[in-house]
Amino acid sequence: MTSHDAPGTALVTGASSGIGWEYATRLAARGWGLVLVARREERLDALAKEVLKEGGAGVETLVADLGSSEDLSRVVGRASGNDVDLVVNNAGINGYGSFAEVDPDLLTRVVNVNVVALTALTRAAVPGMLARGRGAVINVASLLAFAGDLPPDPLPQRAVYAGTKGYAVTFTRTLAAELAGTPVRVQVVCPGLTATEFHLGAGDTPVSGERRVHDEGGMPAADVVTASLAGLKAGEVVCVPGLTDAEAVAR
Ligand code: NDP
Repeated sequence: MTSHDAPGTALVTGASSGIGWEYATRLAARGWGLVLVARREERLDALAKEVLKEGGAGVETLVADLGSSEDLSRVVGRASGNDVDLVVNNAGINGYGSFAEVDPDLLTRVVNVNVVALTALTRAAVPGMLARGRGAVINVASLLAFAGDLPPDPLPQRAVYAGTKGYAVTFTRTLAAELAGTPVRVQVVCPGLTATEFHLGAGDTPVSGERRVHDEGGMPAADVVTASLAGLKAGEVVCVPGLTDAEAVAR
């Protein structure tokens, strides 16, 4: 991760679509070997084929539900392997909905994927990185970490989601301070509205109104990854505003 280092192995969670898919292809193009993590095996297999066709270094797929403690343990085991020099904690789910009505089990899953897994994978990887004298962790948060009460929703309906992203920001900034002076860097990326499957509520949440946002606005996932990888050496917080939700809806 420093100028004298060759790329090693990057573990990317949520690699089966959107921003994670983009991280994986971009890192492969830079010579990184990949460990791709998500639930949808067929998507991971398709990504692995694409990456190898483009001449990428090795690719492993790890089918896992990061909301399940058993599956998370397997991924933690891989993240603590002595070849993992970059962890991209990108997997995330939203759990939007009226707080008083939303399924409590869904909220627990949001916290498990967005907070517990991110923390556990960082904890698994950092000691080896410190021992080897190289490494980085990228945590994908959201601009909602700072402003979960912004429009367009008449009610925010995303207190827990925004809270998990606030955790990712504060956790990363505080850890960055602790790791200052070591060769290990941690970065938190805060994208604005991005055109991915996230707003379709795939599998997890039916999100009224969000399909419109997806169809009408949102920056490409590539913009998020470009800013993140460009900023990795410089700082621990990278905000990628793109369009605001309100601007996207107005388009
Ligand atoms: P996508 O829905 O396209 O991607 C989410 C990824 O997370 C998928 O690969 C999904 O894979 C994976 N994932 C979800 N749940 C689990 C789980 N339980 N276990 C393992 N993997 C899981 O959305 P984005 O690419 O947009 O989202 C990536 C990150 O960016 C998220 O953390 C999101 O909060 C954040 N973000 C997105 C914004 C946007 O506007 N799109 C804005 C700000 C932040 P699978 O279903 O195969 O498991």
